[in-house]
Amino acid sequence: MTHECPHCHALHWKAEHKARSSERCPEYGQCCKSGKVNIPYLDNVPGELWNLFYAQDDISKEFHQNIHQYNNVLAMTSVGGQVDNAVNNGHGPYVHKIHGEVHHCIGSLLPTGDNAPVFGQLYIYDPAVALTSRMQHNKNLNQQTMANIQDVLYQHHSGVQVYVQARELSRDIPAEQNFRIGLHFD
Ligand SMILES: [Zn+2]
Repeated sequence: MTHECPHCHALHWKAEHKARSSERCPEYGQCCKSGKVNIPYLDNVPGELWNLFYAQDDISKEFHQNIHQYNNVLAMTSVGGQVDNAVNNGHGPYVHKIHGEVHHCIGSLLPTGDNAPVFGQLYIYDPAVALTSRMQHNKNLNQQTMANIQDVLYQHHSGVQVYVQARELSRDIPAEQNFRIGLHFD
């Protein structure tokens, strides 16, 4: 893959160039539709996250080891879809088969009944309360690392900002008053 798209600089195999473009001035469709799609660069990774990913100390080693668990604990949604387990009959490797459409489950803003808050519900709580709750169910993880990632999300994640806004709006409403809050993710 040494042939560069003149617009977005993605690398291609020579044979991928558009049939109508010449060999001398090849155009590529799969990357940016010949310059028609222009995606802005991502912001720089926040320093705290960068360190977790690239430092070689014990803190970042622990993060790498449990990265899947950190990701799950801080997720705002769960995966929704009709999982078909009939294919897993004990023969061959596990197959994750989904029937129909895959979607995100976001659930209600507040926990129902006596259930503890989970996933996105934790983002409507004060960060300190949310941190305690997350650590209670994941005692093997490093609390400082969890706090750092949580801080990054509160500062940079537009979805978390929506939860924070909902919390602030509801803070001054008396407990006995009924009210309705809907989150709008644009
Ligand atoms: Zn391109």
